[in-house]
Formats: sequence, structure tokens, C-alpha cells
Amino acid sequence: MKARAALFREIGGELSIEEIDVDDPAPNEVRVRTVACGVCHSDLHFMQGSIAGPLPTIPGHEPAGIVEAVGSSVTSVEPGDHVIACTSIFCGSCNECMKGWPHLCSNRRACRRPRGAAPRLSQHGVGIDQFSDLSGFAEVMLLHERAVVKIDKDIPFDRAALVGCGVTTGVGAALNTARVAPGSTVAVFGCGGVGNSVIQGARIAGARQIIAIDIVPKKLETARHFGATDVVLSTDEDPVKAIKRLSKGGVDYAFDAVGNANLSAQCLYALAPRGLAVIVGAIPSGQLLNLMPGHFYVEKMLTGSIMGSNRFHIEAPQYLDLYRQGRLDLDAMVSAHVTLDHIDDALHAMEAGEVTRSVIMFD
Ligand SMILES: [Zn+2]
Ligand SMILES: [Zn+2]
Repeated sequence: MKARAALFREIGGELSIEEIDVDDPAPNEVRVRTVACGVCHSDLHFMQGSIAGPLPTIPGHEPAGIVEAVGSSVTSVEPGDHVIACTSIFCGSCNECMKGWPHLCSNRRACRRPRGAAPRLSQHGVGIDQFSDLSGFAEVMLLHERAVVKIDKDIPFDRAALVGCGVTTGVGAALNTARVAPGSTVAVFGCGGVGNSVIQGARIAGARQIIAIDIVPKKLETARHFGATDVVLSTDEDPVKAIKRLSKGGVDYAFDAVGNANLSAQCLYALAPRGLAVIVGAIPSGQLLNLMPGHFYVEKMLTGSIMGSNRFHIEAPQYLDLYRQGRLDLDAMVSAHVTLDHIDDALHAMEAGEVTRSVIMFD
């Protein structure tokens, strides 16, 4: 079938809204009518060339929508179901999946069409790569069954969509990767969609102090709304010194929600002994971590967090329960709605640091 989509052909270029062909679902696939798709920094990083991937493609990896058609062996969803899609597809049988880490699945290929098969997405017979195995900047998505999870119909699509990437990445970094302990102290560098989700995760976990760090004063106000107890404007004050002063010696956990080698180092330096620094954002390829080794002599730890160490099919409905209870604020995360035709505006607003999250709404 035909669908309108935002095609991306060359690094540094703009998106172009064009008509594409979406194939019929294979036995294990689901066709979803996209209703909402958040615009995430990874989309921008990809378009700027700091994350590599095949072209042409259709970006977008934070979508929610309605199932339209399912393949013959699909059992988890049926037409009419509301779903969130997540890039963390998993084979279910590799070592990582069996250890309970499907977000680190080493055989994601198993959820793609085999080489030589007709592409899921194409234009004039030429295949289009499916960014993040989703391609959410399109009216219709064709996805592996494991890329979607059914949600209750009372959740607004624009809120639900955020759980597909930003919220899962941030809340999961706090709850799953770091396992933030009740009563602990936390610092979060970068207060966009992911950073504010880390802040919310830390609040839900029961952290007693959450220090937010950003270079934009307005973003620090927003961070307070999401649960930051202290804020540091890092253009005014050295953030490591400020964190040590506010926490009286260093925090138990520090998160780099931006993905920047300097910030990741500052996370390590701002920790108390035995503290844990977590790199959540993607550090652009080419940047190297340059760390003073003395920090490891007091048993500080440094780790990465990919997609919030998620087990999406379990956690997405849990996060929506927390939303319903008022404990996870998704409403204030959505700062703007745009149409597919104005997607470039949303990308520019994000680049300028003007918004927490823009969400594309489809008709
Ligand atoms: Zn994302
Ligand atoms: Zn696997």
C-alpha cells in the first residue's frame, strides 16, 4: 500500500515528504497506522552523520499507532489494537535474550526480513532502509511483531509514543541500569526528554536529592517540575564543584543524558566513592573518553546504558500505569505537536534546545 513518509537521502540533507510503498505483512509482521511519533535526538544525530546507517531511510523511532493488519502467525496483537513500537527488537533465543537482556540481543537480524526478500519499505521498486527497524516518520509502519507492545486505549497516543524511546531510555537508565536506591543522591547532565526522564526515574526510585545540570536556564525550571531538587547552570559554575558542594562530597549516581565525552568524565568526577556514572546519551563517534584514573582508586564505576536496559514488553505497560497514577509525568514532556510536513521545524527546535519533546501527529 501507499503511504506518505519523510525520506532522508544524504547526510546533512533535509527530509523530503514523499509517497512510498509498504509491503503486506509477512507471517511475523504487523502493519501499524502511525498516529504519533516523537522526534528524538538520535534522529538528528543520525541525520548529521554522528550515528552511521544505510541510506536512503525514513527516520523516526518513537511511534505509537493502531494495528491495521497482522501476519498469519502473529498472536500478541490484532487489528484495532493500540500499540507502542520500540527499536529494541529481540530474537528471544540468543545468550543476551536468555540472560534477560533483550535490549542487548545479539541476533536482531532474526526480526528482519531475510537477505534477498522483498523490502518492507520501497519506492519505485527500490528498497528503503528501516531506521531503527521502525521508520516512524511515516503514515504506515511495517514491523516485526516483537517491535510492538499493546497498550490500553485510554492513553493518548502522543503520550504513549514517548515511552517508545525517550521515557524508556531515561526512566530505565535510573531504574534498570543504575538501580537507583531509595534515599540516594543523583546528578543528571542534560535536561531534554531523556534527562528529564532520568530525573523522573530517580524520583520514582526514591532518591532524596536530584541535581539537574544544563546550560539553558529554562530547561532547569522544567527539570525542577520533573523532580530535580537542585539545579546547576553549568555556564555559571563548574558543575563538578557545584555537585560536590550541594551533595556534600559527591553523588551516588551521575548520568550523562547528553552523550558527550567531557560530560561523561564530569559524571565520574562528581561521584562519591563507590558511586556509579552512567553514559545514557550516544557519544559521537570520534570522541574519546579521557579520564583521570585516580577516581577508580575509590572504586567509582562507569557504565553505559542502552535504551534504558529495557524489557519493553514488561515495562511499557508499567510506565503507563505510573502515568495513570500521576507518578510519571508524560503530559509535561510533550511541548509541541507538528504535522509530518513541518517535521523540519521540530528538528530545528530540538537542535536549538527549545523543546522537551515535539511529537508528530498524523491525520
Ligand atoms: Zn530516541
Ligand atoms: Zn536475542
